[in-house]
Amino acid sequence: MLSHNNPLSLNISMEEVRTFCNNVNNLKNVFSCDCNRYLRYYSSQEILSCSGPCKNPVRYFKID
Ligand SMILES: [Zn+2]
Repeated sequence: MLSHNNPLSLNISMEEVRTFCNNVNNLKNVFSCDCNRYLRYYSSQEILSCSGPCKNPVRYFKID
């Protein structure tokens, strides 16, 4: 989609590309810890938490 040589990208505006990139970046930020590692889903505890050794891990708990 973002390639200059991609014929499918002819009808995509810069604003659409900008919005797409911003959304991808926002998703990356939501699923990243403050230490810049990605979060990982720990199914046995049903939490999203920092994927590495971390002094202050971001954690998301399941909401019932
Ligand atoms: Zn972390």
